[in-house]
Amino acid sequence: MRSISRRAFLGVIAVAGAMRQRAAAAQNFRTRLILLGTGGGPRPRKASSASAQVIISNNVAYVVDCGDGVARQLAFAGVPLTTLRHIFITHQHSDHNADYGNLIWLAWTAGLSTRVDTWGPPPLEKMTKLFFEMNAYDIDTRISNEGRAPIVPLVHVHEIRDGGAVMSDDNVKVAAALVDHPPVVPAFGYRFEARDRSIVISGDTAPSDNVVKLARSADVLVHSVMYPPAIDRLVGRVPNAAALKESILAHQTSAEDAGRIAQAAGVKTLVLSHLVPADDPQVTDEMWIEAAQSRFRGKVILGRDLLEI
Ligand SMILES: [Zn+2]
Repeated sequence: MRSISRRAFLGVIAVAGAMRQRAAAAQNFRTRLILLGTGGGPRPRKASSASAQVIISNNVAYVVDCGDGVARQLAFAGVPLTTLRHIFITHQHSDHNADYGNLIWLAWTAGLSTRVDTWGPPPLEKMTKLFFEMNAYDIDTRISNEGRAPIVPLVHVHEIRDGGAVMSDDNVKVAAALVDHPPVVPAFGYRFEARDRSIVISGDTAPSDNVVKLARSADVLVHSVMYPPAIDRLVGRVPNAAALKESILAHQTSAEDAGRIAQAAGVKTLVLSHLVPADDPQVTDEMWIEAAQSRFRGKVILGRDLLEI
């Protein structure tokens, strides 16, 4: 070590510093995906929240779906609510939209004072309007009492009725595809094309060719999944068992089929989410992963709340 000259030593330090700076810059630009809620179905559970994920690019938050607890999950994930900029709803089912209005409203109480654009199927506009009407007492009180900017003018709603380009800004290009989740029509999957990676969220769907097209060569596909052998145990707990079982089997995708779709699309990583059932101890992590991996040669990740991918 003694033989290293002072000049060489300083050179090494300078190079290390430059590398750190480059790494920090890359990290700033790295588009992050955090799973906020990975359980399927609206029933509140101890182990997992309902559907929601956030994509963060250049410190701008794009939230996809607003299941129960999404604002708190963002807090757990360390994502400032004031960075909320866009919300995308895949379809109008309560495990995907129960906290749509709450997210905007609570972000506003946390200091959000900038524009929020929301995107999703009808009746998104009516839901937004009625939500603010329903909560006008609190909103008006906070405006007059706490000096907050009015919330209503901040929120710009865009109803989507068909697949295709949705929006683009400096960070991402977003496209939607119609997926197959009857009787909820329209239901969408979304693709986010960022400068460093592409991320696709399937939404709830039966096996869909449109998802294969939407996810073509994507880096990450987050697909909703069910584990069919466990559905009987799941619906056994409720009085409407027969109808619920039929609905789940017809409108969701098995983990095995999700693997098949990921393979057909040629994605690099498949993330299993919106797990149905979400909390059956007899369905182990290995069972989920093996089912998907049996049809897919890429990487399979079992979704968990607050997992960053
Ligand atoms: Zn659904």
